[in-house]
Amino acid sequence: MPQSIYINGEYFSREDAKISVYDHGLLYGDGVFEGMRIYGGKVFRLQQHLKRLWESARAIVLEIPIDLRAMTEAVEATVKRNELTEGYIRLVVTRGGNQLGLDPFRCDDPQVIIIADKISLYPEKFYTEGLDLITAATIRNNPAALNPRIKSLNYLNNILAKIEGLRAGCVEALMLNHKGEVAECTGDNIFIVKNGVLSTPPIDAGILEGITRNAVIELAEKAGIEVRQMPMTRHDIFVADECFLTGSAAEVIPAVKLDGRVIGAGVPGPVTSELNRLFKELVSV
Ligand code: PMP
Repeated sequence: MPQSIYINGEYFSREDAKISVYDHGLLYGDGVFEGMRIYGGKVFRLQQHLKRLWESARAIVLEIPIDLRAMTEAVEATVKRNELTEGYIRLVVTRGGNQLGLDPFRCDDPQVIIIADKISLYPEKFYTEGLDLITAATIRNNPAALNPRIKSLNYLNNILAKIEGLRAGCVEALMLNHKGEVAECTGDNIFIVKNGVLSTPPIDAGILEGITRNAVIELAEKAGIEVRQMPMTRHDIFVADECFLTGSAAEVIPAVKLDGRVIGAGVPGPVTSELNRLFKELVSV
C-alpha cells in the first residue's frame, strides 16, 4: 500500500508530496503542527489536537484555510486512505509564501499537510526498564520570547536539548525553564510520584499542554490518585519515588535516572505501571 499524503485537499505519493522552497514554514519555521496517534483506525482525541492546533495558529496570527469540520474530515480520510489501524499522524499548517522576507502578511497560501505513517516508538526495553535522563543545559524557550504552548514548526530549542541528550546516551532530556524549574522533556511532559501523590509542572512553567498529559491527569483522578500541578525543581525529581514521561508517541514511559542519580527504586514504579495500564485500556476502546 503506497503512502498517500494530503496537501491542500489533494493526495500525493511520498515522492511527489512537495511544497515550495519559499514557504515560510521552511524559511523561518513559521507554522504550526500536531502529532497524533491512530488506535484501532481512529485518531485519539482528534478534537483536542485540533483545538490546540487552532490555538497555536491563532497565537501566531495564522489563519487555517479550512474549517474545523473540513480538517476533521481530511484527517479521517487520510487515515482511511492509508489503511492504517495503528499509526501516527503529522498534521502541519505552514504560513505559505512565494518570496523571501519575514513579512507574514505577504503569505496568502498556507499549506495544510497531513502525513499518516507507521509509528516508531522507543525500544520496548525502555518501557520495561525505564529511561535514563540528563538535564540539558539548553533551557526551554522563555514564554515571553516564544511560548511553549504554541506547537510551532520552530523546534530548534527542543532539538538542541535533544542533541545534548543523545550525545550523553539518553533518548530524552529534561529541560528547565528560565527560572530554573523543571519544564518538560524535548518531546514529552514529565510527572513524578511522591508518597502516592502525582505531580507535574503547571502550564505556566512554560510547557506544551500535552494531550497525553491531560489524559493521564484525568485517569489518575478517576483512579483516586491525588494530582498536583506545581512548580518543581530537579531536587523534586531526585527525591521522587517514581518518574515518568508522557507524549503521543511515547505514551507513558518510566524514567529511572536523572543526571546519573537513581530515582526511587531505580525501576518503573507501581503508580507508573498502573497509569500505563489505564492509558492502554483508554486507547484500546
Ligand atoms: N512537550 C513537547 C515539547 C512536545 O513536543 C510534546 C509532543 N511531542 C509533548 C510535550 C507531549 O504532548 P502530547 O501528549 O500532546 O503528544
